[in-house]
Amino acid sequence: MFRLLLISILVAGVVSPAAEAAKASSAKVTKKKKQKRKAKDNRTPTKSTKANMPRGFVWPPNRTMEAMADECQAKLDEQGIAYEPAEAKGRVLRPMLPQAELGGITYTAVYSKNQVFDCQLVLALATFSPQLYDLGVREVRFGSAFRWSKVRVGGKTKNILSRHALGIAMDIVSFVDDQGVDHNVKHDYKAGDELLHDIERTVNDSGQFRLLLTPKNDPKSHSDHFHLEANPDYTAEVTPRPSS
Ligand SMILES: [Zn+2]
Repeated sequence: MFRLLLISILVAGVVSPAAEAAKASSAKVTKKKKQKRKAKDNRTPTKSTKANMPRGFVWPPNRTMEAMADECQAKLDEQGIAYEPAEAKGRVLRPMLPQAELGGITYTAVYSKNQVFDCQLVLALATFSPQLYDLGVREVRFGSAFRWSKVRVGGKTKNILSRHALGIAMDIVSFVDDQGVDHNVKHDYKAGDELLHDIERTVNDSGQFRLLLTPKNDPKSHSDHFHLEANPDYTAEVTPRPSS
């Protein structure tokens, strides 16, 4: 009995520190891994964040881009769409706060008010909205338009600047139809909601947007919203307006 006790004390004395050291080092590794993962998942853009720009987009904007922004505003004016200029943010070429109703559809920000849009997004929505209206949509509820952030896709943050940082993308949470029914992407898309699937098809067929991310093509990062993105091309030839 005594011998057994002695052995167990010896064993405990010899094994324990080594085991503890191993445990400590594995905890260190896990902590490092976690920190690394956390750093990787930081969505705030840094100096190394790659640009994810539309064709011809440069920053600061060149004359062609300014001319196209002027042209965009002129088109909104022609269509009688009211907007207020907004303060400069991120890489938004022509920041504005548009009227809520565009092309027969009311756009409502569900989280924070005063969402800044680039003119190109406003114009794209105003142009496309009548097609949403024909599908029976009356209101679009969106989470955010401008957001200074990196791209998030497939459950991972990529070191690429999101086009939300340009004010040309919108994250849509739900669509309200002419009966007042709210068709929510998170709750209704997977259940086969016809309106949501019709909208997805119509957006893709229209060719008016660069990208529509949905629970179908990105189930990990877009299970609860549609990411809709305008598609400006700044390589286009425009005649700069004479400055007054
Ligand atoms: Zn988005």
